Amino acid sequence: MAGGLRRRFPAYNQTYRDNFIAAVRTNLTALSPTAKAVIHPSDQAARAIVPKNDLNCCAVYAPAVGLPWVAFNQNEWRQADLQFGVGGYNKVSLTTAQLHCEMRMLDFVGQATLAGNYVGISKLCCLPCGAVLALAGVNRRGCHGKGYETGWQYPQWLLNTPGALQAFLGAVAWPMYTDLSPESQRQCLSDLRISFKE
Ligand SMILES: [Zn+2]
Repeated sequence: MAGGLRRRFPAYNQTYRDNFIAAVRTNLTALSPTAKAVIHPSDQAARAIVPKNDLNCCAVYAPAVGLPWVAFNQNEWRQADLQFGVGGYNKVSLTTAQLHCEMRMLDFVGQATLAGNYVGISKLCCLPCGAVLALAGVNRRGCHGKGYETGWQYPQWLLNTPGALQAFLGAVAWPMYTDLSPESQRQCLSDLRISFKE
């Protein structure tokens, strides 16, 4: 029997979850405070494709050389596929649902390319996207500090880059996360993600 050495995990209950989410939100707000900088030509390019108040969103990255890139998140499928109507761009493919346009751009074009550069977005970043771009070193106009009712999805960069998830969760929530059983860790990240749907 290995019982004496078996690790005891804390119970992942509603109080634990609420404290965890509150700690993460405090960290994300510190990483990406609510702000609105001067609109950039890439923001204007994004808004020319998707209006700022649209349910869909659009991100534009214009490298020094070559065609600019465009990424979408289609929350509103009224238009069959926004990408078909847009010329003059390299297009980031639509993959996971609820992956916001700037997260799609990050995963597809890559953090190494985007770091230190500006990504224009048709609207201000939500709270988790603003924090992810801050951690990735990507410049953007600003963050409105809340989520979107259409939901949020983790970019692969955040989950697959050593240290990125730790920095995203923050000094208080990270040990709360790592203390949990693997099963509760999965539930915990799922609960966090769903909490951004607001
Ligand atoms: Zn977002």
